[in-house]
Amino acid sequence: MICPNCGTEAAEGIKICPVCGNEIPDSPLFQETTMLRIEETQMLKINDEEPEPEKKSSSKTVYLIIVAVILAVILFLLFKPK
Ligand SMILES: [Zn+2]
Repeated sequence: MICPNCGTEAAEGIKICPVCGNEIPDSPLFQETTMLRIEETQMLKINDEEPEPEKKSSSKTVYLIIVAVILAVILFLLFKPK
């Protein structure tokens, strides 16, 4: 038995969801539809999470590496042994 409201898997024979209190129907077809709907919702959630913040942080990392390399070159030129 799967709650159509919150997707909680309740024990067989339970008519009311222990999590949200929603009525759980007996029809297995309805349950299948609910499962598909829950999966779709999860897929949409995954699609919503665009890797944009990761992109920003990785470009930031590249910037930091470039700055570090420039600093290293400057320090090397300043303290170059003669
Ligand atoms: Zn529920």
